[in-house]
Amino acid sequence: MARQVRTSPGAAYDLGYPVVWCTLWSRPAPWPRARCRPGRCSAASHGKVRRQRLDHAHRAALVLVRGYDVIVHEDLRIRNMTRSVSGTIDAPGRDVAQKAGLNRSILGAGWGVFLTVLAYTAESAGRELIAVNPAGTSRTCARCGHCVKENRVTQAAFACAACAHAAHADVNAAINILRAGLALRQAAEAA
Ligand SMILES: [Zn+2]
Repeated sequence: MARQVRTSPGAAYDLGYPVVWCTLWSRPAPWPRARCRPGRCSAASHGKVRRQRLDHAHRAALVLVRGYDVIVHEDLRIRNMTRSVSGTIDAPGRDVAQKAGLNRSILGAGWGVFLTVLAYTAESAGRELIAVNPAGTSRTCARCGHCVKENRVTQAAFACAACAHAAHADVNAAINILRAGLALRQAAEAA
């Protein structure tokens, strides 16, 4: 089987082993199927999972930081809408990541951990990391701006009721999040 995990926006990360679903944990197992059986997925394994999750987070953060100067993500805690990294702006507008297109199922409950790692990595590399309020981004049409909950057909599918724009729901939301992040960035520069 494929050694890669394909995330919804299309990015792929080579984890070095096939990813399987652990029925005991109801989430992707951090090891091959052969090792995923009763007795293996125990509390004793949690330390290992935590280390592996941290390793995934570091690898994924590096992929993003190497590839993009500006990274916009949804602020899951919606604590503030300011830039979390005041890094240098070496090339405004170039290579902007749409949301951290990362597979949440890989990171699972480690999303907060990932954002922490990403913030650190981005700051070290002088990249900009922008957190935006995700309110409405999953319901709003990235093409025409029409915002109703009916746009969200299923968890995965987005279809605009006004302009018939259709896309993967995550991709559509990512475009909105990117747009919101860039708007914040522009406002901060103008200030
Ligand atoms: Zn539309």
